[in-house]
Order: sequence, then structure tokens, then C-alpha cells
Amino acid sequence: MTDTYDVIVIGGGPAGYPGAIRAGQNGLSVACIDDWKNLDGGHAFGGTCLNAGCIPSKALLESSELVHRAREEFAVHGIKLAGIEVDLKQMQARKAGIVKASTQGILALFKAAKVAGLPGHGRLLPGRKVEYTGLDGNKTVLTAKHVILASGSVPTPLKSAPVNGREIIDSWGALELGSVPKRLGVIGAGVIGLELGSVWRRLGSEVVVLEALDAFLPMADGQVAKEALKHFKKQGLDVRLGAKVSGASVKDGVVEVAYTDAKGPQTLAVDRLVVAIGRRPQTLALLAEGTGVTLDERGFIKVDDECRTGAENVWAVGDCVRGPMLAHKGKEEGVMVADLIAGHHGEVNYKTVPSVIYTAPEIAWVGLTEEQVKASGRPYKVGQFPFLASGRARAMESTAGFVKLIAASDDDEVLGVHIIGPMAGELIAEAVLAMEYSASSEDLQRTIHAHPTLSEALHEAALAADKKAIDFPNR
Ligand code: FAD
Ligand code: AMP
Repeated sequence: MTDTYDVIVIGGGPAGYPGAIRAGQNGLSVACIDDWKNLDGGHAFGGTCLNAGCIPSKALLESSELVHRAREEFAVHGIKLAGIEVDLKQMQARKAGIVKASTQGILALFKAAKVAGLPGHGRLLPGRKVEYTGLDGNKTVLTAKHVILASGSVPTPLKSAPVNGREIIDSWGALELGSVPKRLGVIGAGVIGLELGSVWRRLGSEVVVLEALDAFLPMADGQVAKEALKHFKKQGLDVRLGAKVSGASVKDGVVEVAYTDAKGPQTLAVDRLVVAIGRRPQTLALLAEGTGVTLDERGFIKVDDECRTGAENVWAVGDCVRGPMLAHKGKEEGVMVADLIAGHHGEVNYKTVPSVIYTAPEIAWVGLTEEQVKASGRPYKVGQFPFLASGRARAMESTAGFVKLIAASDDDEVLGVHIIGPMAGELIAEAVLAMEYSASSEDLQRTIHAHPTLSEALHEAALAADKKAIDFPNR
């Protein structure tokens, strides 16, 4: 290990490690310091996303969805299965294998890009020096021309329901359960709460989701949120809105949850309670006195549009700065900063960051919701196409949901695309690309889509915006 680098990245999650790799590709000398601790005490690069977030949750969502389909949908295909059994140990082992392959893959990527991966803790000192504490506890002071802070986020604790790692758990705990709880409570109907609630519901838990707000998925397009709630309720997710949790106590292995809703104080007894009320930036022991890096009132590291902190040559990216807490947003910021440091062009178009909720049906969107466009006062048109009318969706037995495209009435620019339905998270990529290139709905209308594919639903939604849909009556 040398002690001087062009770039030191603190944090090896999906914001930090791509930044380190791109800096290496740009010919700079780079170190990436990361202090993730796995449940067995070992270290792995990849941060929350690979170890305890995106990847393990998607592995379990996939497995549990297969269970659901085998139980509920195979018969209609003419496939008869007797005695479907869930081997949760194997399901968890598969997930752990995927996580391990992904995190170890980073080591290979670091090697290829000549990034020095340094497991341990990093603390920024004044003057772009970084105190590195290795896993053995030894401290070294490293120097860099540039420092990128990518320290990520941690689950927001709820004072009235403290996590004890057994009955009351956070999202990571909910990914590691060794048995299917009979009754599962989830506090928070955000993306994480809904995905984890779906996993355990499909595996047999009775799931109650308590959400303080009266509105369901307020960040999504209203029509999509309404459609989603309908499907989740049908699946047996008991989503209780306007339910503010005020306490949780454990007695004989049962969690008694106290909450208040419009009818007054209520209680709920569950075997496991997941606290999923959001995430907060992680800046613990990250900044020594006098670095010049400042935090906003919510604890995020303050940055400008290009992720500069204001301290000379100190940058910050990912969940520890403003903006949506999403892996792909952090990745683009990490890459942008590494390119700017190397004197190349770099930019993140925050208007086209897609959001995906990996439930069934899947939900994905990019751009403005209809409510936001309406509030902006700009005249607009809407095209909508239901998957019920898609040949491919019918063949897949996945006809729930729709594609909704919103375009400006004046110049036809696509302002937002909202998808609820099969593979929504994949389909949204076309809309992101279209919006990145400021496409009009006519551009999408004139783009050939293979038949029969789910992507035809976006094509038809674009046509429907001008009342030209072929496969469904225009509204
Ligand atoms: P992190 O992934 O949190 O990584 C930060 C790393 O820095 C960690 O390894 C941490 O240990 C290390 N670190 C912190 N401080 C220091 C220090 N001082 N010294 C050394 N190392 C330090 N997002 C999506 O886009 N899609 C999804 O499907 C998705 N699913 C999710 C599911 C769950 C259950 C959860 C919890 C999150 C999910 N997210 C998802 C969010 C996603 O995980 C985060 O947005 C993403 O991980 C943020 O990346 P990051 O690199 O900024 O931070
Ligand atoms: P997200 O930030 O998207 O992960 O979602 C977290 C959700 O938890 C938000 O919708 C919050 O309204 C909700 N929430 C926060 N505190 C409570 C609480 N005490 N009881 C119930 N829901 C809560």
C-alpha cells in the first residue's frame, strides 16, 4: 500500500466502487476504503446494495414469486404440481451465493482497474488527508489529490420501536429470517416495506403494513398508486393507512404494536416486526474537525449539482447526499465525479432517474407524475394502455396493470412514463432513454416495437396520447 493517491474513495457501495473503477480507468491512482461488516463479522465490498439491499431483496423476491406462481398460477397453464414445499434454508443459501458472487466480483473489477481496495474505516482530515484504520486496528494517514465521500446510509431508527435483532428487526434482518413468521408487521409502506412484506406474504406470513400517511405511495402517479394498492390488498397484504406507530414491546416472543389511526388507539400482535421507515445518511466518524465539509439540517453532506462539497477537491456521492436514495443514482454520481476529476465531461440528469418497486405487479416510473404536470400548469395529454390488451402479457398470464405516458400538448415532449405491470422495471429503460433524448410521443409512436412484446404497451400508450392506439379503444 502506498500512502499517496490521486483519488481516495471512502465507501465501497454502488456509489463509491463505480467511482473508484472509473477513476482507475481514467489512469488515476485510486484507493477505495470500505468498512462494511457482514453478520459473520467479515468484510465485503458492495455496501448496502450488494450485501443487504437491492441484490438480496431481489433474490428473495424472485424465489418467493416463483412459489406464488407455482401455487396460484401454474394450474391455469395446465401444470399440476402436488405438494409444493418451501425449503427456506436453500432459498436463503441461493441468495447468499448471489450476494457472495456479486461482492467478490468487485475485487476482480478493482484488480482490472488497478484500484487498491482497502477494507477498514476512513476518516477525512483537513487538507485531503484520510486516516485509514485497517481491520487490524492499525491507523495510517493517506494523502490524496481528490477525496470522494460515498459513505451511504443506514436504516432510520424508530424510537418507539427499537430494533432488538430478534423480534423487532430492520430491513437487513428481514432478509435474513430463518423461518417464515406466522404474523409479520411492517412499519412503513415505502418501497422497502412493500418489497419485504411481499416476500414474506408470498411465503405464507400474514402481513400487516402500518403506514403513518393517509396517502399510499405518494411519490408515485396517483393512478398507479391506486392500482397498486388494489393488487396488494388482493394478495393479502393488509395495508393500513393513517396508522402511526407509537410503541412496540416484546412479551413471550410476541410483539405488541401500539398505533393510532383515525378511529383512535389500536394494537396489533405480531411474531416479527420490521421497521422500514426510511434511511438516513451515514456520516458517523467520517469527518474530522476543520475539513470544510458541511451537513444540511437532515444530515446529508451538502453538495452542488456536480457533487462538490465546497471543500477543495472533496466530493460526495450516493445516499449520503441529496436526491433519491437509489443505487443507480449513486453510481452515475460516482462515475460523473471520477470523470470530472480526470478533466472529462461528466453530468447526471436528475430529471431522468427511474424509480422501480419490485413487487408484483412491478411498478416503475420516470419523469413527472400527472399530479405534478397538472400543478405545473403546462397543458398535457395522456396515453394509456392496459396489459390486458397485450398479447405477450396474456401469453405470460400477467395482465395486471398498464402503461401511462404523459406528454406536453404544446410540443409533444414526453414528460413522464408510469408503468405498473410485468417487467415494468425493464420496460422503463426505453422511456428513460426517450426522455434522455427529449423524445416526443411521436418519436415513440414511430419507433418499431417487436411483436409480441411487453414493450408494445409503451408504443401503444404513446399512440394513445394522440388517440391513435391500434390495439385498444382510445379514451
Ligand atoms: P451504501 O450502499 O450504503 O454503501 C456505503 C458503504 O460505505 C458501506 O459499505 C459502508 O460500510 C461504507 N462506509 C460508510 N462510512 C464509511 C467510512 N467512514 N469508512 C469506510 N467505509 C465507510 N436501490 C435501488 O436502486 N434499487 C433497489 O432495488 C434497492 N433495493 C433496496 C432494498 C433494500 C432492502 C435496501 C435497504 C435498500 C435498497 N436500495 C435499492 C437502496 C440502495 O441500497 C442504496 O441507494 C445504495 O446502496 C446507496 O449506495 P451508496 O454507495 O451511496 O451507499
Ligand atoms: P420510505 O422512506 O420510502 O422508505 O418509506 C418509509 C415510510 O414509513 C414512509 O411512508 C413514512 O410515512 C412511514 N413511517 C414513518 N414513521 C412511521 C410511523 N411511526 N408509523 C408508521 N409509518 C411510518
